[in-house]
Amino acid sequence: MQPITLHSFDGGIHPQENKHQSTQTAIAPLPLPAQLVIPVGQHIGAPADVIVAVGDLVLKGQVIAQPKGFVSAAVHAPSSGKIVAIEQRELPHSSGLEGTCVIIDTDGQDQWLEDIANGSREISDYLEADNDVLVNRIRDCGITGMGGAGFPTSVKMAVKDKQIDTLIINAAECEPYITADDMLMRERAIAAMHGIQILMKLTSADNCLIGIEDNKPEAIKAMEDALHSVHGEHHITVVTVPTKYPSGGEKQLIKILTGKEVPSGGIPSAIGIVCQNVGTCEAIYRAVAEGKPLISRITTITGESVEQPQNVEVLIGTPVKHLLAFAGFKQEKSLFQKLLGSFNASSNSESESKPRLIMGGPMMGFTLSSDELPILKSSNCILAPSQKELPANDIASACIRCGLCTEACPADLLPQQLYWFSKAGELDKAEQHNIADCIECGACSYVCPSEIPLVQYYRHAKGAIKEERATQLKSDRSRVRFEARQDRLDREAAEKEAKRQARAATAEKAQAAKKAAALAQQKEAAEEAAKNGDPANPDSGPPDSGSAESKAPEPIDLEKLQKQLDAAQAGLKKSMDKIAELKAEAENSDDPAAPIENIEVFEKAVATRRDKVKLLAQQITEAKKLAPPVKKEITRDDIEKKLRAQQDRIDKTQQRFQLAQEQGSETLPALQKGLDKQMQKLKELEADLAQFDKAGA
Ligand code: SF4
Ligand code: SF4
Repeated sequence: MQPITLHSFDGGIHPQENKHQSTQTAIAPLPLPAQLVIPVGQHIGAPADVIVAVGDLVLKGQVIAQPKGFVSAAVHAPSSGKIVAIEQRELPHSSGLEGTCVIIDTDGQDQWLEDIANGSREISDYLEADNDVLVNRIRDCGITGMGGAGFPTSVKMAVKDKQIDTLIINAAECEPYITADDMLMRERAIAAMHGIQILMKLTSADNCLIGIEDNKPEAIKAMEDALHSVHGEHHITVVTVPTKYPSGGEKQLIKILTGKEVPSGGIPSAIGIVCQNVGTCEAIYRAVAEGKPLISRITTITGESVEQPQNVEVLIGTPVKHLLAFAGFKQEKSLFQKLLGSFNASSNSESESKPRLIMGGPMMGFTLSSDELPILKSSNCILAPSQKELPANDIASACIRCGLCTEACPADLLPQQLYWFSKAGELDKAEQHNIADCIECGACSYVCPSEIPLVQYYRHAKGAIKEERATQLKSDRSRVRFEARQDRLDREAAEKEAKRQARAATAEKAQAAKKAAALAQQKEAAEEAAKNGDPANPDSGPPDSGSAESKAPEPIDLEKLQKQLDAAQAGLKKSMDKIAELKAEAENSDDPAAPIENIEVFEKAVATRRDKVKLLAQQITEAKKLAPPVKKEITRDDIEKKLRAQQDRIDKTQQRFQLAQEQGSETLPALQKGLDKQMQKLKELEADLAQFDKAGA
């Protein structure tokens, strides 16, 4: 293998290491705590789904929450016991946010699940196993990055389509005080090395570089020795890198080992590199070879406020106070939270009487609000500093624009500018100055002579940007939904309006046609009336075309017209009968002059009445056309009545015909014609009656 050429990154600092305090003793097992508090959202991505209930008894290694979605991780019971609560509790995080936690009262048995205890989950020939089997095992065992933010490892291993040439194992552990990885490599180098082999198989990387700072000679030797345990030919190299903070930053270590730079906003796989923490490698080996989920980790408990700084194997979910008690926490030495110390670790100044505890190191860690908070999969250190150890710096001075922060920044940012933008809430400008590339290493805060807690400003700004983006995304989605709904409503309204207009046009057309027909009929009737004279309305004449449209048609009283017609017809009949009588009288009289004069009078009356009958009959016909049809049910009685009436008429006409015949009158042809019509009508009525009877039968 070619010797590795080391590179350097810009900036960086050399803070006091304070590591030796916790490396004087071997990793100690921590006594089982009485209660475990296990957050189901310890990783980046969606919190896992709780699958147990209060009252359930669980065994060590049993799944209590399943991954929800692709970027998620399973959570397991770290020990056997009973689920006593599933509730929202504050999480150990700089945000102080709450999350769902499963609370287990341990039973003291620490009893493994059967198939883990009997070894039936072990994959001994893991280098021959299918990659999918290995990735699923890593996922099922809830393995997440143990040196950083806790990214699910199985997701990081899904690199099938990407060309990975180098696997980088981050074992630099550059942060002061923290020695968890150092001790892990010293004591568990072979397990870590086998985990690295599994990762090489999964990533198909051509080579692997294990970067360890030169302040860890024991760990370097242990890892080099462990190379002898590696099966077959390998391309794994242990690389000693100079101690400089933050060489353990992912981008910085990649730069040191390969000279390559991860582009701003990009990830290492974009340049053919995958990076994993050395502790994660050991957890991968345990998961694959032993079938054990990630339920414990090595955590450094250190600081001058503990009697015995050391590394302990601690169950996930163990309350911090349990560690403190184990390491001999000395309350009187502790730095209290009102004295805001460290270069970076953010604090909660409300709890003035509580000892200051930092999760993580003094550079990148954060102050815990309570010692009840639990250890997570990513908790590599609990720092309990004394007042002397991390002096208070709660009073920051104004920025003197010295530029030291810029010199120290390993990410080539302008910390002073970022500070101004963050402080002024100018988030867009902070984004333009690549605040997203800030790894929150705290190097700028460390060198700042004004003791400005710069990283706290950056964290706040990053949180605000994230929130703003989430709000923007939400509002964009809402806007899209609103616009889609509005479009649909507009479309429906337009369709409705089009239908309404079509209906209105049809109705208007029908109305106009009806009106025109009525007017035509009225006009016709009026013209007819004007031509003939109207006995009911002698003044009536042809309707005025202008007023005809403006006046509403008078309702026609059909019944009244019928009565008038009946009366006119009766009068006509009387007159005609009288004429016939007078004529007969005149023929038999000695003085023929007198009845002849009377006959002339009655003949004039007959002519007038005949015209009147004709006019009334026309008016009734017209009125019937205009009037809505009245459907009257015709009964047999009606037809019989008409038949009898018709028969009477015929009888009378026949009498008159007979008389006229006897007298040789000139009216004979007219009477014969009338008689024929009456006979015809009689036949029609008889046919109606026959039809009626037939229908009834
Ligand atoms: S180191 Fe501090 S004082 Fe100097 S420029 Fe940066 S923020 Fe200002
Ligand atoms: S700006 Fe960010 S990356 Fe740069 S030194 Fe400060 S904390 Fe570190």
